[in-house]
Order: sequence, then C-alpha cells, then structure tokens
Amino acid sequence: MTTSVLDRTHQVFEAGLATGEDPTLGLLHAEADKVSRELLPCRVNNPELWFAESPSDVEEAKALCTDCPVQALCLDGALSRREPWGVWGGELFLSGVVIPRKRPRGRPRKDAAA
Ligand code: SF4
Repeated sequence: MTTSVLDRTHQVFEAGLATGEDPTLGLLHAEADKVSRELLPCRVNNPELWFAESPSDVEEAKALCTDCPVQALCLDGALSRREPWGVWGGELFLSGVVIPRKRPRGRPRKDAAA
C-alpha cells in the first residue's frame, strides 16, 4: 500500500499534536477534504513522486502540484514547518528551505563551468 503526501503529513500531524507543533497540517487536511480526491494530484498519482530521488520525477511532482486546489496552503504550511524534504505546494524542500532543483546523484562533472 502506498501513502500519499497528505497521508504522510497526517501521520506527522498526529505525532505533532503531542508536541504542540504548528497545526497548519490540520488546516491543510481540512481544506483538502473539502475537494474531490481526484483533484488532489498527490492522492491520485504515485505518492513516491513527491519524495523521489530522480530529478525528473521531482520535476514531474512539482508540475502536478500546479493544478492542486490547496497548493498555496500546502506551500505556506511547508514553509512554516520547514519541511525537511520532498515536494510541497509545487516547490522542492531540502532541510527546511526551497531549492530550485534536485541535483542528480554522483559527483559534479569536471568540465562544469567554474
Ligand atoms: S500542492 Fe502538491 S503536495 Fe500539496 S497537497 Fe497539492 S498535490 Fe499534494
């Protein structure tokens, strides 16, 4: 069984209730529950895309987020929580900040411009 981004956030949110973390994830779930599941890309596509290793998969997840009705709320929450990783609200997070793109695995090319 796969777990969507929203399902993962729910698990984190449940854990966070005990520690008094920002409740923004609860608001995200409440808003997401108001729209049809089919309109939420991370619920109807492979949720692993949102936590993918492949840069092309990450870009695909970011593109899918653009059609999401809760994109702005998702992004705001991820920013406030400083999400450690994954695609949230159409942006890629790493260590709590938005980064432009995922680097491919391996060492940089030697002939890369200095
Ligand atoms: S913006 Fe992206 S990650 Fe957030 S709920 Fe929508 S599809 Fe999922």
